[in-house]
Amino acid sequence: MRGVSVPVLLAVDEDPRALSEVERELVDRYSRSYRVVCSSSAEEAMAELRALRGAGEDVALVLAAQSFEGMSGGELLGRAREIHAHAQRGLLIDWGSWGDGHTAEEIFDAMARRHIEYYVIRPSQTPDELFHQSVSTFLLEWANARRVSPHTVRIVGESWIGRAQELKEVLGRCAVPHAFLLADSPEGRALVEETGAGEPLPLVVFSNGMVLTNPTDLELASATGATIDPKRREFDVAIVGAGPAGLSAAVYGASEGLRTLVVDEGGIGGQATSSSLIRNYLGFPRGIGGRRLAESAYEQAWVFGAKFAFMHDAMAIRRDGDRLYVSLSDGGEVSARAVILANGATYRRLGIEEIEDLVGAGVFYGGPAHEAPTTVDEQVHVVGGANSAGQAALNLAEYAREVTLVVRADSLEKGMSHYLVRQIEATPNVEVRLETEAVGGGSGEDGWLQSLVLRSGADGETETVPSDGLFLMIGADPNTDWLPAEIVLGPGGFICTGADVEAHGDWPLARSPFSLETSMPGVFAAGDVRHGSINRVASAVGEGSIAIRLVHDLLAAEQLDRSEQARR
Ligand SMILES: Cc1cc2nc3c(=O)[nH]c(=O)nc-3n(C[C@H](O)[C@H](O)[C@H](O)COP(=O)(O)OP(=O)(O)OC[C@H]3O[C@@H](n4cnc5c(N)ncnc54)[C@H](O)[C@@H]3O)c2cc1C
Repeated sequence: MRGVSVPVLLAVDEDPRALSEVERELVDRYSRSYRVVCSSSAEEAMAELRALRGAGEDVALVLAAQSFEGMSGGELLGRAREIHAHAQRGLLIDWGSWGDGHTAEEIFDAMARRHIEYYVIRPSQTPDELFHQSVSTFLLEWANARRVSPHTVRIVGESWIGRAQELKEVLGRCAVPHAFLLADSPEGRALVEETGAGEPLPLVVFSNGMVLTNPTDLELASATGATIDPKRREFDVAIVGAGPAGLSAAVYGASEGLRTLVVDEGGIGGQATSSSLIRNYLGFPRGIGGRRLAESAYEQAWVFGAKFAFMHDAMAIRRDGDRLYVSLSDGGEVSARAVILANGATYRRLGIEEIEDLVGAGVFYGGPAHEAPTTVDEQVHVVGGANSAGQAALNLAEYAREVTLVVRADSLEKGMSHYLVRQIEATPNVEVRLETEAVGGGSGEDGWLQSLVLRSGADGETETVPSDGLFLMIGADPNTDWLPAEIVLGPGGFICTGADVEAHGDWPLARSPFSLETSMPGVFAAGDVRHGSINRVASAVGEGSIAIRLVHDLLAAEQLDRSEQARR
């Protein structure tokens, strides 16, 4: 079997009985697609990992016991990552061992140092489905990072930038796993030949064999998601934005019997799709990728009957009688009895021409969830001082040789949660440069980012540093410039709701506005777009569900009004 290029699952444990139980479960379930390798000591496992690297073999998963002679399991797995950056790593623990207090601390510490992804409870019977659930979760994460997950869409383009980059962004925003191939690479040429498709590039090749040549965003939308049925454009509630707030409103709206439509200028997930690992969302102890969370929420809303229209910008809102009308970028309108604005915020641009020209060719806005696995052994920079930038730096540190976090403030604590500051301090390949800004950059002959110009300190001294990747997370502005003047905006252009509307004195009705209602009756706002929002996934999700509750209250109040008018 050796030498055959199938990915490896490696287990290491000094206890021969425990190791043989793990081996039995791995071989029984995975030996058709993976090669199972077992080592009885840390030294043997490290030698095996180095030999596999030398032979160019891919390691998908390393499972290690908690302690070895001379080192902990966490340390061993941290070293394994240095050799096989893409390998998932799990710490094997005994069922019930969390009672000793020590194990929980060890797991927390190993996760904080990014030595492990998570822990795995040793198999206790055969088959042990709990053990296999952990293993298959690891393997799915590995497959996503290696772009070998099922249904990966492949884009073939002449260059990283331009239309191919736009299509990558569209697919990224639709939470569709995708990989990019240069047209003059051997893989790119082979795929073009296999599909038989000609010019014009870029090509988009789906796993079911469908091929689109240089599609528009809308064509891509109908291939990956949904568009609106032109004959059915009347809904109870229209939600603008399919980020966490909009998806939550869609789940609650559709599950509570409202005819629900969600429109998004892109696809599902909003900003959350660029978050590599959300660690602080309730119910996901090992963290959850923003893309995965959005996909599950989308599926949940969809099975409840919510309709989705991707690649549709909401352009205007007007009222006519008791209905609200939202104009869309396809030239049509949808009508609803209530509208929820859940259209979040978009990344602020750096505005430096030489850097903007390299977007897609080494320069990326937003989190590196999709790009991080491609930065193995590279030197990359993250600009930003908030939690999103901290998360990005840690995600990149799993793959890149060196990550520099470029922060304008004079301390990390000013903008970042304590747990992230702690993780960054504990990660040796993340360097933090405070009081520093990126002010320029340049590319090499291949058109990819090669260097950055950083300006630091009070004297504004500049320095040119080599860089293979730049990830920009410098804040976000609300998507509110398209809204009618009757929707009152607060500081920074965020939408005022509830008490803020009343305080502003622009409320047209006798009743008070509902807590998330804007100054346009029947139009609600939820999530990051709202003035005073908390900028968290959990709060966006909470506000989405509250907005639906308020839509019910509004509809009930309107019904009461109509009954009273009829009685008079
Ligand atoms: C890199 C990164 C990491 C993060 N990590 C975390 C974390 O670990 N924990 C946490 O709690 N929070 C995290 N956040 C914050 C969290 O993602 C946001 O608070 C959350 O996504 C806000 O949700 P939302 O639905 O209000 O808006 P958004 O997520 O911004 O979604 C808005 C949606 O509206 C669409 N839209 C905009 N304008 C229009 C229009 N005119 N017509 C149609 N559609 C439109 C957009 O395409 C988008 O899909 C992170 C954010 C980033 C960027």
